[in-house]
Amino acid sequence: MNANKKYGFATKQIHAGNKPDPTGALCTPIYQTSTFRFSSVEQGGARFAGQEEGYIYSRLGNPSLTTLEDKVAALENGEACLATASGMGAISSAIWSSVVAGDNIVASDTLYGCTYALLNHGVTKFNVQVDFIDMADLDALKKAIKPNTKVVYLETPCNPTLKIVDIAEVAKIAHAANPEIKVIVDNTFCSPYIQRPLDLGADVVVHSATKYLNGHGDVIAGFIIGKADFIATCRMFGLKDMTGAVMSPFNAFLILRGLKTLDIRMERHTKNAMALANFLHDHPAVKKVYYPGLPDFEGHEIAKKQMDLFGGMMAIELNADRDTTAKCINTLELCTIAVSLGDAETLVEHPASMTHSTYSAEELAMAGIAEGLVRISVGLEDADDIIADFKQALDRLL
Ligand SMILES: *Cc1c(COP(=O)(O)O)cnc(C)c1O
Repeated sequence: MNANKKYGFATKQIHAGNKPDPTGALCTPIYQTSTFRFSSVEQGGARFAGQEEGYIYSRLGNPSLTTLEDKVAALENGEACLATASGMGAISSAIWSSVVAGDNIVASDTLYGCTYALLNHGVTKFNVQVDFIDMADLDALKKAIKPNTKVVYLETPCNPTLKIVDIAEVAKIAHAANPEIKVIVDNTFCSPYIQRPLDLGADVVVHSATKYLNGHGDVIAGFIIGKADFIATCRMFGLKDMTGAVMSPFNAFLILRGLKTLDIRMERHTKNAMALANFLHDHPAVKKVYYPGLPDFEGHEIAKKQMDLFGGMMAIELNADRDTTAKCINTLELCTIAVSLGDAETLVEHPASMTHSTYSAEELAMAGIAEGLVRISVGLEDADDIIADFKQALDRLL
């Protein structure tokens, strides 16, 4: 690549961050090594002191990961990126790098279940106080920010209700209150092909790369993207000392492979999701479809403003109780009952029993997660086949 040229997303997902290899290898090799040889004690000392560039030990950096990190930073329009062993590794490393005892975090009340657990039961054990608010309510955000607030944390679309939060407005409010506040956005549901929070004013993006970025259901991984100094803190403290959540070189190789087709996959996920959403919207067994692409969905206008596509994630609420909902899901023949998302296969799960079982009944109600709510990660199969499968399962409820 020519460093002076601006390239499009598809070109960057294939070429950005790639380093010339001495053997001429087209693909970045898997540097399956834990440690790196120093030519002398002096050189080792210089690397530890940060006076000389170079690798030391793979928890601090590895060439397979460097290529991937530079690529993901380019895709999110960020200065730097840190690869992690999981999405939770990214989120926890970023949080530990941002707060100390006595600080406050303002977080969205609808979040991935384990993120909610980390904030609700984890960091609070260390005297970090967390306020959960409806992040779509900007007045509630203004009221919640305190002098000791260090982080505003959100997802959009939220997991699992697809609630849309206006990233630019949240960033504006947080930074007006205190420019030091870090607005952290979990961009897992969108991927940078659809939404780039840093361009909208957020400070940090976190990802579960387990999902769309890898896209093939065979890796657990994560990323943190942001300013170079913050990513350096995440690398040399959050990850190195606090979580140790380092990505393996083999997983870096698989994600580099998956990323080559990110744009094509996101286009197809969205096309299939739109077709399925339109079908489900008109099915009498379905009470509500939660999909940002539907004009009657709350948040559709904000979604149009900040997302380039509406994505492959949706949820539906059935006119049914918990047991009937479970029975209906069990009759799907093609779609797979599984958590996770962003894979080639259409995956269907029941948040109240699975991903959001860390929420109490009251917390579920507060976050708007009904017993009849079904989350769907629309896959890359033929849309007609996905629709036919839902039709035969839902028709049994009539
Ligand atoms: C899956 C997920 C996570 C957690 O990622 P892991 O890779 O499973 O650790 C975090 N946030 C969102 C929105 C997710 O969907």
